[in-house]
Amino acid sequence: MSPLPLRFYNTLSRQKDHFSPIDPHHIKLYVCGPTVYDRIHIGNARPVVVFDVLVRMLRYCFPKVTYVRNITDVDDKINARATEENRSIRELTDETIARFHEDCQALGALPPDAEPRATDHIDGMIAMISTLINRNHAYVAEGHVLFDVPSFEGYGALSRRSVDELKAGARVDVAPYKKSPMDFVLWKPSAANVPGWDSPWGRGRPGWHIECSAMSRAYLGEEFDIHGGGLDLIFPHHENEISQSCAAHGTDHMARYWLHNGYVTVDGEKMSKSLGNFVTMADLLKTTRGEVIRHALLQGHYRGPLDFSVEALKESEAALNGLYRAVGDDDLATDIAPDAAFLAALADDLNTPLALARLHYLAGAANRGEDGAKESLKASAVMLGLLEGRAKTWFQSPTQSPGQSDAHDALDDAAIQDRIARRNAARAQRDFAAADAIRDELAALGITLEDKAEGTVWRRG
Ligand SMILES: [Zn+2]
Repeated sequence: MSPLPLRFYNTLSRQKDHFSPIDPHHIKLYVCGPTVYDRIHIGNARPVVVFDVLVRMLRYCFPKVTYVRNITDVDDKINARATEENRSIRELTDETIARFHEDCQALGALPPDAEPRATDHIDGMIAMISTLINRNHAYVAEGHVLFDVPSFEGYGALSRRSVDELKAGARVDVAPYKKSPMDFVLWKPSAANVPGWDSPWGRGRPGWHIECSAMSRAYLGEEFDIHGGGLDLIFPHHENEISQSCAAHGTDHMARYWLHNGYVTVDGEKMSKSLGNFVTMADLLKTTRGEVIRHALLQGHYRGPLDFSVEALKESEAALNGLYRAVGDDDLATDIAPDAAFLAALADDLNTPLALARLHYLAGAANRGEDGAKESLKASAVMLGLLEGRAKTWFQSPTQSPGQSDAHDALDDAAIQDRIARRNAARAQRDFAAADAIRDELAALGITLEDKAEGTVWRRG
């Protein structure tokens, strides 16, 4: 049983629901992963971090959690990019997946328990499509297989759209072989130059939606606890996933709880190629540590919009400096429970802004020397995936300030050690003027020295 009552805002019910798992011994959750043709941007990084925090909390509360995040490696955008760059699809997707994993690691996100690739589950998709045809929820037309939307009564329940609205919305450019303008593709024919698999309906490839229905079923079964993703996936992607899975399995639910994270804007504007304000993780990580980006992403409540800016990154870096300073470098007892108020904030629909505020309260208590505050701060912070490293490493990290790319005056660790050795030699000869000059030189570069019993230690900032 969970040691604390959890509540999540459930898109299905449009309210905060108490979390009541199907099997409290084993929590199952599925999150839609990336379509792998390009590096992820800061908007894609948000669900990676948000659902990582959710999984960390579920692991704290329940004995077993299975977290599945898929990889969409068959998609027309992938085909187009591979053609454009004149490389094989496999090479493009393998490389993009490797970069994605690097970005997730930099963000401090733990790997999911399973990360299925769509192309490894084509058989499962074909089987599910066949079931849908047999149950009269899908039909074959001109080499395509389409989901028969009017055959599924609950369609529109997640996105709260009426059939009339949906029909009106779908009426532009309807393919002539569709029975209803709302019907969507489960399988489509592949020309010789695009990836395709043999199927009862000819050589072809799956539609995007059926991928998640088949992969979640393979790893989590017909019904599971939580399905997550970005707000933009509610319609049509998640609406279609539900109709496919429930129609194929004869169930009322695919997942019991649907959690969606909000959009990320950059300097107050929606990210778009035309505005040129696309912020990729690759670019950000050149100047900013992943932990700073993670902190900035957790500063806002996951359901709300989040504005991303260099200013926000600077604030996050300063906040982390304060937290690392408070936690210090002593070896702390690891059997200390996270702070109760911190846990209560997270348990209430993942209120990370309130949880972060509580960390700063604990840092204040630690700075005042209150008993157990350091340990409690550390145990709480790691549930957010923060303060996992040593304070010494954090302050000595040679990364530049967020938004600043000019690093010509940065010293590497060896150069700093060399200055410290020269300063020690000067002090040994009682040449304090020379020793002070070296200290001042380092201070000008933002490096602080502290003389302790065990020797001189240094930190950046
Ligand atoms: Zn999906």
